[in-house]
Amino acid sequence: MATTCEQMKKIQGHPCFEQNHHKTGRMHLAVAPACNIKCGYCTRKHDCANESRPGVTSRLMTPSEALDKVREVMASPILGPTMRVVGIAGPGDPLANQQTFETFKLVGEAFPDLIKCMSTNGLLLPESLDRLHALGLHSLTVTINAVNPETAAQIYRHVYYHGKRYSGKDAAEILLASQYEGVQRAVELGMVVKVNTVLIPGINEAEVPQIAERIKGLGAFVMNVMPLIPQADLAHIPAPSTEQLAEVRNNNERIISQMRHCKQCRADAIGLL
Ligand code: SF4
Ligand code: SF4
Repeated sequence: MATTCEQMKKIQGHPCFEQNHHKTGRMHLAVAPACNIKCGYCTRKHDCANESRPGVTSRLMTPSEALDKVREVMASPILGPTMRVVGIAGPGDPLANQQTFETFKLVGEAFPDLIKCMSTNGLLLPESLDRLHALGLHSLTVTINAVNPETAAQIYRHVYYHGKRYSGKDAAEILLASQYEGVQRAVELGMVVKVNTVLIPGINEAEVPQIAERIKGLGAFVMNVMPLIPQADLAHIPAPSTEQLAEVRNNNERIISQMRHCKQCRADAIGLL
């Protein structure tokens, strides 16, 4: 897919979006422990699968500890010069934690040139975007696994939304509406938006092209299709094969750019990708 000049300018220096992703670095600040939904593939024994490698849990930091960490990394003669992006991606959902906003504020005041990036399940995105925009959030990842509530209801066990627990189709409808509205509004606010989709054989594979069409129409920049890691409620579903994943990505490439170098970094990853 073609990338416009304006989009190219916006992604400059961000290792997850650029071709020269091995030259610039990012650091994840693990300040967000709580989550407000339950994805069927999540055990919560590791970092949020929206962005992170399974099997490891990051050490939690407070916002002021996170700022100390950023100062330490920026002062490092090896890491400092490569560092372009500071991201919050867990270990839970960043928007379910006030620490996310506090951390972006502290780090933004001390290091205004670092690009701010965040990854979320999207449930609280529409109501959080004005705050995130005011804090200077540059790029955003939203994990979207379905278009139809019937499909999403097979993936998510429940959501906690404005103090109430929803399950089944009700939960799915709330989550999907928030995710797509959030993507649209984030694009309108000038953010670079990536959408992660977990490929779940037998549940959402037929819907992946529809997700691609929809997010493309809303102005998302790139899509990252990730293979299911069978565990928790979805432990009985076999992971997609390498060939199946490649086929889905190749078909989707006709609709929206596909990310293929994602390393599913930990919520406390620091350095080059
Ligand atoms: Fe787990 Fe992340 Fe899903 Fe929350 S959003 S249930 S932390 S995978
Ligand atoms: Fe941002 Fe995700 Fe890259 Fe982290 S891995 S810097 S959250 S796009």
